[in-house]
This record gives sequence, C-alpha cells and structure tokens, in this order.
Amino acid sequence: MFGVDGFCRKCGIPFVPQQGSLVLQRSGLRVGGVWNPYWMGPMVCMEDSIANQVAERFDVQLLEVGWPKGPPGGAKQIIPAVTEHPWFDPEVLTATVTRYGTPGSECPICGVWKWRPIKGIWPPITLSVSEDRPVIASPEWFGGGGWASFHELLLVRELAELLVKASPRDFRIRDDVDIRYV
Ligand SMILES: [Zn+2]
Repeated sequence: MFGVDGFCRKCGIPFVPQQGSLVLQRSGLRVGGVWNPYWMGPMVCMEDSIANQVAERFDVQLLEVGWPKGPPGGAKQIIPAVTEHPWFDPEVLTATVTRYGTPGSECPICGVWKWRPIKGIWPPITLSVSEDRPVIASPEWFGGGGWASFHELLLVRELAELLVKASPRDFRIRDDVDIRYV
C-alpha cells in the first residue's frame, strides 16, 4: 500500500500518502456490499457496483482493491483526503483518551505522535471549511502500541447513507459528534 520502505517499521505510520492498492486476502473475506477489511482502523471498501454509484455522485478518490493472486478488480477502496487542519484540541483529546490509560506515545524512530483510539463520546471536531470534501481523514494518527495506525474518517451524510444502505450491518451513522467549521 505504501511501498516497501513507505512506512515506519516501529509504529507502522506511513511516510507518504497511500500509493498502491490495498491487497486483501480473499479467504474468509466477504467481498460484497461495503466493508471495513481490518480491525486496525476505519477503511472503506466496496464492491464495484456500489463504487460506481459513489463515483457518479461524489468527488472521491477510489482505488482498485488488489488480491495476492490474480489481477486487481471487483472492489474499490475509498482514499480519503487527509486534512492539514487538526481536528482535535490536544487538551480535550488528551482528557478523553487518558480515561482509558495513556493518551498516546511518540514513536522513538519517526517521531510521530500516535493517540490511543477514542472510545465512547468523541471530543468536538473542528474542520476548515476550505478542506471540506465528501470523505476526509484526520491529520492526527490513532492506534495502539504496535503497527496499527489509522486516521479517523468523516463522510458527508449523503455518502454515509448510501454506504449504510448497502451494508446496514457493518456501518452506522453517528449523530453525536460535535463538528464546528472555521
Ligand atoms: Zn514510527
């Protein structure tokens, strides 16, 4: 996904935006509807028929999903636009995640700070109007002590509704997040 040397071997955070296809194992995977392939964080994949609807209605980047055997195809992944403007107030985020232990850690190799995942009620999010897109990712990194590293994602409601309609068991829309625009 990020090239051979594209991510930090210590914390798993990529040095560059995603370039290649996400490669998924077919075994044990349900390739249908919309799904999140890994436990490691929000990542949205969908079968081509749904990806076509998404591409028609929304200005989003879609990348073919790859497979270890055979050519890529049949499914696509949404590549979110990572914003530059931080989403969270570090003090509020620290207070939120510290309830569950340490707030996060700085990688001794690449120096990137990784927050522990947000559980329960989310702290308010501040977005820059200029960066408003159908699917955006937080510049903040989240994850555990290992390689699992992810950005949080926000989708415009119409797109979220399309995905939830396609896979109601895998996704739900959260209405309890306080989003402010600056
Ligand atoms: Zn690192």
